[in-house]
Amino acid sequence: MSFVKGLKCRECGRPYPKQPLYICEFCFGPLEVDYDYDRIGRALTRDEILSRPKNMWRYRELLPLDGRPTDGLNSGFTPLIRASNLAKALGVKELYIKDDSVNHPTLSFKDRVVAVALSKAKEFGFDTVACASTGNLANSVSAQAAVAGLKSYVFIPADLETGKVVASLIYKPTLVGVEGNYDQVNRLCSEIAAKYKWAFVNINIRPYYAEGSKTYGYEIAEQLGWKAPGHIIVPCAGGSLITKIWKGLKEFQRLGMINELKTRMYVAQASGCNPIAASVKENMDIIRPVKPHTIAKSLAIGNPADGVYAQATVRESGGWAEDVTDDEIVEAIKLLASTEGIFTETAGGVTLGVTKKLLAQGRISRDESIVICITGNGLKTQEAVYERIGRPIKIKPNLSAFEEHIRK
Ligand SMILES: *Cc1c(COP(=O)(O)O)cnc(C)c1O
Ligand SMILES: [Zn+2]
Repeated sequence: MSFVKGLKCRECGRPYPKQPLYICEFCFGPLEVDYDYDRIGRALTRDEILSRPKNMWRYRELLPLDGRPTDGLNSGFTPLIRASNLAKALGVKELYIKDDSVNHPTLSFKDRVVAVALSKAKEFGFDTVACASTGNLANSVSAQAAVAGLKSYVFIPADLETGKVVASLIYKPTLVGVEGNYDQVNRLCSEIAAKYKWAFVNINIRPYYAEGSKTYGYEIAEQLGWKAPGHIIVPCAGGSLITKIWKGLKEFQRLGMINELKTRMYVAQASGCNPIAASVKENMDIIRPVKPHTIAKSLAIGNPADGVYAQATVRESGGWAEDVTDDEIVEAIKLLASTEGIFTETAGGVTLGVTKKLLAQGRISRDESIVICITGNGLKTQEAVYERIGRPIKIKPNLSAFEEHIRK
């Protein structure tokens, strides 16, 4: 019962079979999953979706499997929070947080893409999965491969945050710390992928894997009462998530799940790694690679694979892009915590920091609905804020010691 016709080159449209392929032999464009939307339209309705369990697979006709999903069966359907305190602090009317910092099982949106990638890798018959990661993907591949009984090879930059390293190692992957930045890790992994018969989730399985991000967009629309918001601000690394949220919303419109789509999409990056934001702001036709230097390590991709598509998403939707400094990232992390009780990782600080900036610039209307994408959990990037949050008060274990302190 598959609704997938095959793969298709995003640039020249050439068709390819459903295989672990990712690049067009003719024009080197990326391959994309090609669906039979007419059949999906007959099979999938709002009522059918509402009747299903609250996880990302409630939209399974729009995901690229041939059979039933086997992995990440509890991933997705994270809270969409009406953020009234933060709205007041920012001076806006209607603000929401789509909170994947509590996604199952590894507390980031990457659980969605890995759920699809591992289910698909099993359909293809792979016994080993692998990835090149800035941290969260490493956690999710390690955890979900352990559950699935697959061997895993996980490649990360050697200088990642301790939280991200520990949250991979605990699942016993083969974890490889490469002495270099993510772009060097990724280049190495492309060579390894060409030689070893592994399912590299974000290389040879990428066309399938990336589709998992669409569920983040479907959920926003469903949770708003089958409506698309006015504005969505998305943290960008390789530029895939923003592209797929937009694709998901367009699919929902095409299928009649939402009536209209006037959402503006915004790229959020760190100033220390802003290749996509810079290309939008300077209206360039290409993405100029940069050498990353930022505390937002999960977003530190200097040469983003989907950068041009992220830029196209901004242009098509009438959005914009901005970037923020490391100081602004930390301030935004603290603001989100103190207003909404959500502890986000550095990427979420980027998203909120950029939202503040875009509001100040008048790029985002204060009267329309706004969704901020919180994609990862702050417990994994504690070193980013550790020196900026004060220390506990230390006292002797008696009442007078305590009262002496509160009198001060
Ligand atoms: C990977 C990641 C992103 C960005 O993903 P891309 O699809 O590569 O743009 C955003 N937030 C977090 C926390 C991530 O780990
Ligand atoms: Zn092509």
